[in-house]
Amino acid sequence: MADRDAVKSESFGFQAEVARLLHMMVHSVYSEREIFLRELISNAADACDRRRYEALTRPELLGDTPLEIVITIDKAAKTLTLSDTGIGMSREDLIENLGTIARSGTARFMEAVKGAETKSSAPDLIGQFGVGFYSAFMVADKVRVVSRRAGSDEAFAWESDGLGSFTVEPATRDATGTTITLHMKEDAAEFLEKYRLSSIIRTYSDHIAIPIKLTEGSEAADTVNTAKALWTRPKSEIEEKDYAEFYRHTSGLFDEPLRTLHFRAEGKLEYTCLLFTPSQAPFDLYDPERKSKVKLYVKRVFITDDCEELLPAYLRFMRGVVDAQDLALNISREMLQHNPVLAAMKKAITGKVLGDLAKMAENEPETYAKFWGQFGKVLKEGLYEDFDRRDDILKLTRFKSTGVEGWTSLGEYISRMKEGQKAIYYLTTEEGAASSPQLEGFKARGIEVLLLTDPIDDFWLGVVTEFDGKPLQSITKASSADLSALGEAKDLGEAAPETDVSRLIAVMKGVLGDSVKDIRASERLTDSPVCLVADEGDMDLRLSRMLKAHDRLNAIAPRVLEINPRHALVKQLAERSGQEGQYDTIALASQLLLDQARILEGEPLPDLPGFSKRMSDVLLRLAQ
Ligand code: ADP
Ligand code: MG
Repeated sequence: MADRDAVKSESFGFQAEVARLLHMMVHSVYSEREIFLRELISNAADACDRRRYEALTRPELLGDTPLEIVITIDKAAKTLTLSDTGIGMSREDLIENLGTIARSGTARFMEAVKGAETKSSAPDLIGQFGVGFYSAFMVADKVRVVSRRAGSDEAFAWESDGLGSFTVEPATRDATGTTITLHMKEDAAEFLEKYRLSSIIRTYSDHIAIPIKLTEGSEAADTVNTAKALWTRPKSEIEEKDYAEFYRHTSGLFDEPLRTLHFRAEGKLEYTCLLFTPSQAPFDLYDPERKSKVKLYVKRVFITDDCEELLPAYLRFMRGVVDAQDLALNISREMLQHNPVLAAMKKAITGKVLGDLAKMAENEPETYAKFWGQFGKVLKEGLYEDFDRRDDILKLTRFKSTGVEGWTSLGEYISRMKEGQKAIYYLTTEEGAASSPQLEGFKARGIEVLLLTDPIDDFWLGVVTEFDGKPLQSITKASSADLSALGEAKDLGEAAPETDVSRLIAVMKGVLGDSVKDIRASERLTDSPVCLVADEGDMDLRLSRMLKAHDRLNAIAPRVLEINPRHALVKQLAERSGQEGQYDTIALASQLLLDQARILEGEPLPDLPGFSKRMSDVLLRLAQ
């Protein structure tokens, strides 16, 4: 076996991303450098939580050691030392955790930096993300970490000046835990002042449930923070900024919470929830695992931040903690699956969260609009995943619409429906396609159409077919254009009487053959000459495009081509369809009209060279 003591000190290069991050930290001009302390305290507190958790099954790992963080100022040596009695790090942990970027948040930070054009925006990003341990190098030009992992009697020291490499060597430490010594930069002397440090701790770390003690020289250490789990304190005692800092600590996010939901459930099940809605969608919101990030505590002991049984996937944007009274403390993470107590809690908490969203929608519509903009897509997953709560979620769902600015609800849509209108009309469309030809006849008749731009819409529309007794009807379906029953189009008038297009349609059918399912005169068009629709019973246009793009559909079913009998071009063609020697012109025009309808619909043209040739033929005729 290799004798480790023989290896005095080993040098390692930082992972390239870390080196870049450190370069930024070392040269940081970020004015709020004080956040380094928040980051280091947050790590120390997490380490204490983890030690307490491991001690649930192996009590000897904790014994009667008090969990605490002690911060010591040494002005003469210009050092600031943070010592914790947490879980500690092994040699491998030190190399892995403090030499690479494992945490996706930090990786994301680096991406954002790469994307940022000017150097000066890096400081803003530091504030937005917080960058963990490495932020120590904003205030220190040398950092030494001495750590001993719980259950081991070996200690190791990690040391670096943040300039590209670090060393790891054997060291001594009396007990389990981690000590971080910061050799402060000349211009960071303010962080060796006791009053300054205690004010920083109270600002950012008051909510930390572990005592944070501060001392200078040989004096006794004072506990600076409240050191009580925030969620156990009465709401009336908690200020908004305490909630916000706690949110940042537990979520690893750095925005302001959009909404805070703090309540205690009593009765059959006892638990406390402190849950937050972020104001910005977290970067990992669309990870395929769709994991909940809410932390589970049992009687104030941290159990896991990876518990799928607390909230359904469609509420995975929520952050915060749930502290349960009715679970056994020695519950293992595996035992959390299929646990009936947790299942009952999940049900109750889901109801509470949805109820709170409904309250927000009712009382604070502007905040709710912000929420919807960030998380609506995720919440809509619940429409097909949670049958029991479908109606509740449908009421919370908001839409863009041709009828109003901003968001609208289904209930509001119904209240604006025209007399005689029986269905809720919608168009599933790509963003910004509000000028789709299918909309024309609806617009002309003053009928509102909901514009559904999220791919997820195609999924829930497969199972939700009505709201409040009104069917949901896609306007790209042939039958939806039974518009004449809903009144005359205002701006059509006598200027654009219809032409009889039956003969033209017969000729076009001969030309286009199988590339269309049918050709019909359109009720829905006012400005455009043609458009494509799906036949009754066929799949909606966008859905079939999407499935085809993902190889879930072999071929898109032929569409119905609708032509506009009020359009000048169609009228011309209709006239010529009765004349001798016009067949070639009509054939060319028919194919180009189909090409055009496909382009407008955003569908690929199956025969690009053919299209190109048709275009030049037409241009040639113009030039002759
Ligand atoms: P994060 O806390 O988001 O994981 P950090 O950069 O703050 O990112 O810390 C990196 C990792 O280093 C932590 O996840 C943890 O594993 C380890 N670590 C940092 N400080 C300590 C500490 N005081 N005790 C034990 N482990 C620590
Ligand atoms: Mg951290």
